Amino acid sequence: MVTLARESRGMTMGELAAKVGVTSSLISKIEHANREMSEERAKGIASALDYPVDVLTWREPVYGFGSSSFYHRKQQSLPQKALKQIQAFVNFQRIRAKRLSSALDLDFALTIPSMLVEDYKSPEEVARAVRAAWRMPIGPVQNLTEWIEAAGGIVVAREFSSAKINAISVWPPGESPFFMLNTLLPACNLRFSLAHELGHLVMHDVPEPGQEEEADRFAAEFLMPSREIKSQLRGMNLTIAARLKPVWRTSMGALIRRARDLEVITDRQHTSLRVQLSQKGWTKDEPVQIPHEKPTLVDEIIRVHHVDHAYSSSDLADMVGLYPPEWFELYESRGLRVV
Ligand SMILES: [Zn+2]
Repeated sequence: MVTLARESRGMTMGELAAKVGVTSSLISKIEHANREMSEERAKGIASALDYPVDVLTWREPVYGFGSSSFYHRKQQSLPQKALKQIQAFVNFQRIRAKRLSSALDLDFALTIPSMLVEDYKSPEEVARAVRAAWRMPIGPVQNLTEWIEAAGGIVVAREFSSAKINAISVWPPGESPFFMLNTLLPACNLRFSLAHELGHLVMHDVPEPGQEEEADRFAAEFLMPSREIKSQLRGMNLTIAARLKPVWRTSMGALIRRARDLEVITDRQHTSLRVQLSQKGWTKDEPVQIPHEKPTLVDEIIRVHHVDHAYSSSDLADMVGLYPPEWFELYESRGLRVV
């Protein structure tokens, strides 16, 4: 927990040591559990990290990128320190959501099923099976976040310090599936990422080769079912893509790719459309914005604690190991704090 708390603050061992007034080798020994901490020392470290000292005594599992239940999308050349800080932030968000919800008897209408591709022949079949199990109406998915929350998934949307990570999901044994979205990215990209992460949680128990392509195929079919979208993709060009974007709430790029994957346009036409997108500068910043989906489950859990249990904000801050100012900033203000 010392490591996690330190990384969540973006500090190196040396920086923490300097702030506490000890050597970095002592911090290293503590973090590697080679040295017991006195209560006084723990208080000093907690205070340097601006967390209540309780946090350092938690015994919560921590997951790293690439561990079996931790998926992420598009992580390019992010500096190690920034990566660790985001990873620590996600772990803390997950642990806090668990602490907030564990006191409640939550009951969800749906569940996120486990379905192996081998049993369903293709990721597309799995996507159709999940839509059927959830009794989703045909056509576009209006609000994907709402469906995932109805299935007990916890979704947290925040602005990360970098646009190099779209979304992260983790589903530890015995916990709720947890998703984190980076709101620096446009809503349609995040919807695709969220569907991609859902695909991982449904189809993949352990990391396997080909899982990224499978998750992408799942996401494409889940958000743009072939049977319903194919006829609308005919004659695909930028005007059609821009017109379909607010209907299907997927990016123009994804719609153009879908047209190729469903063989409505040729590879050559696809390439030409991508070139046109890029000439207009639309591969980075597309026209026709759609609003971000707003998760509501965590807010609802907090509301229940306040209204039904008469917990004050500082009780809740205590419950999740934060001092009240940070609790307010992260959970009870409308602003989205930068990770
Ligand atoms: Zn992935």
